[in-house]
Amino acid sequence: MQMLDLPGGDHIPKLGLGTWNMGESASAFDREVAAVRYAIERGIRLIDTAEMYGNGGAEKVVGAAMHGLNAALRNELFIVSKVLPNHADYTGVIRACDASLKRLGTDCIDLYLLHWCGSTPFQETLDAFTALRAAGKIRHYGVSNFDNHDMTEWLGCSGGEATACNQILYNLSRRGPEWDILPICKKHAVPVMAYSPLEQGRLKNAPALAEVAKRHDATALQIALAWVLARDNVIAIPKAVKHDHIDQNIAALNITLDAEDHALLNKAFPPPAGPNHLQMI
Ligand code: NAP
Repeated sequence: MQMLDLPGGDHIPKLGLGTWNMGESASAFDREVAAVRYAIERGIRLIDTAEMYGNGGAEKVVGAAMHGLNAALRNELFIVSKVLPNHADYTGVIRACDASLKRLGTDCIDLYLLHWCGSTPFQETLDAFTALRAAGKIRHYGVSNFDNHDMTEWLGCSGGEATACNQILYNLSRRGPEWDILPICKKHAVPVMAYSPLEQGRLKNAPALAEVAKRHDATALQIALAWVLARDNVIAIPKAVKHDHIDQNIAALNITLDAEDHALLNKAFPPPAGPNHLQMI
């Protein structure tokens, strides 16, 4: 698995598994746990979840999938979770993290993110993240859905320099972040984690992707994912429950797009021509 560097010499895999929409129904629980387990067996080590997903249900799915893994494999996993903005005050963050740890059945979250900006001053949330890290409950912290201005303010706070991620909506049909967010994250050595890298499956009918897919004997969505994975300083976390989807996403790591592929994709999905608002899904 290709890796990106994190502050302090740690590393994070380029490809992970998303879990939004998991943990929402009891009838799907076993199938979702099996999907996360299958992804781990196939080599996925990064799993993204959040207290919001399934109102804690997705964290329980991830916890159940990790339960009983041998210690060596468990130690290789890199678990990401997120605190909601309405829990972003000092005591709210500490309480939310403890609840996430319990649902995940673990004593440490590898990367803990503020899900999006709320009304709590950034310094207060950062102080809580710093305290959680000192207590060994999280290893790294970061943000999500932060635009250029949010990022600049956050990085300027005490503790901001240790930020390990900005998780944002980024895929071929959402290239706006290339204008400013990707450059500012690169400048501060903050990896970008691209969520909805497949645009939730909606990219599958794009003619340009079909054309490039034919050249690689791949599917359109594998090409969409290979494109995200080819970006410098960017991690992708496609969500998949179907085992063939998980296999296809892992196989996308081996697709190398050439100059002609990039030209076709740039024509169909042009890069931004100016500043724009960061989009959320
Ligand atoms: P996504 O990963 O772009 O797309 C997921 C959808 O694509 C699912 O319906 C999945 O189906 C399908 N799929 C996956 N691989 C496929 C393949 N190879 N071929 C065909 N279909 C495939 O969308 P997402 O779930 O919105 O984003 C990914 C993750 O990012 C989330 O799960 C979550 O962890 C994170 N996220 C974060 C935020 C945030 O605000 N920070 C917002 C949105 C998402 P099956 O499940 O049926 O296999």
